Amino acid sequence: MANAFEYKCSSCGGAMEFDSASQKLICPYCGAVHDAAEYDAMQQQTAGQQAQQSATQGGNNWSMEQDQWNVNEDGLYSYVCESCGGEIVGDENTAATSCPYCDSPIIRNSQFSGSLKPDYIIPFKLDKKAAKAKLNNFVSGKKLVPKVFKDQKHIEEIKGVYVPFWVFDADVYAEVQFDATREQPSGNQIEVGHFDVYRGANLSFRGIPVDASSKMEDELMDSIAPFNNNEAVAFTPAYLAGYMADKYDVSPEEGFLRADEQLKNSVASALAGTVQGFNSVQAVASNVNMIQGNARYALYPVWILNTKWQGKQYRFAMNGQTGKFVGDLPYDKGAYNRQLFLFGGILAAVIFVVLFLAWLIFR
Ligand SMILES: [Zn+2]
Ligand SMILES: [Zn+2]
Repeated sequence: MANAFEYKCSSCGGAMEFDSASQKLICPYCGAVHDAAEYDAMQQQTAGQQAQQSATQGGNNWSMEQDQWNVNEDGLYSYVCESCGGEIVGDENTAATSCPYCDSPIIRNSQFSGSLKPDYIIPFKLDKKAAKAKLNNFVSGKKLVPKVFKDQKHIEEIKGVYVPFWVFDADVYAEVQFDATREQPSGNQIEVGHFDVYRGANLSFRGIPVDASSKMEDELMDSIAPFNNNEAVAFTPAYLAGYMADKYDVSPEEGFLRADEQLKNSVASALAGTVQGFNSVQAVASNVNMIQGNARYALYPVWILNTKWQGKQYRFAMNGQTGKFVGDLPYDKGAYNRQLFLFGGILAAVIFVVLFLAWLIFR
């Protein structure tokens, strides 16, 4: 099976895309509809037959095992689009992308096979139209935003990206030491007594998500969380058709260090609730021992728009499942000054009118 794959329509040869509304592969040219998992199963069968054929013909099928992406000297990967012949460029983590010239979705299968195969995926629930509406709504109310952020051509560039995540389950035995205080009146004063309080418990955590792509800022991903894993389905590459995806480049071990921090905080706040009868309770030390842990590899849907303005990168991101979004916008100093000038002008006019009226009345 070729390692780069274009989801061609079996009826007309057009490039198919995964449609978030119907949760199926749809050909935008002739309207043909395919179930994502069924389509991939069919493709695998055909590829298997072809491999068998070439094996019986005595030919070696090395070419089929090779990655069709070429590695350039500068570490960039390139691939020639089968539909238009244009060159598509990615990096070592590129897993799904689209041709910048003809928009054909390209899936790099080798990035998803063997140990790189995601355990599950949450398919996009909200389409590009929904993401653009949210973004337009976000910038429209704000007067002092530079023009480029409201430019419809730029907003059109918003991209659907599957972000790799590690999802951790952990059974732990945790011990936490608290400094608890109790206030007691003593004459005219209040005496504060400090007490060492210890708590230990077996706790289970399910589904702690950790961003597994170093390209995505952790804070950005945290702000559009949570994703609802109840809507996750078994991974099959057809879900990626029409979207961008990177494979993970943060190892599960590195990811767990971040999960561990979340775990320690949750442990401390869960056990703090059991320390009663004090005026304040503060965790001072904790010890979390893993009894059993498990990491699953997941792809989560995110709409992203990067905007460069005055040498700085601004990001808008929307959860492709729930619609929760986050964005930062700069204030255009030019626009701010114009507004100030205008406001100053109005204020001066008002003062003038007031003075003029006063002069009329009191003269
Ligand atoms: Zn078609
Ligand atoms: Zn192309």
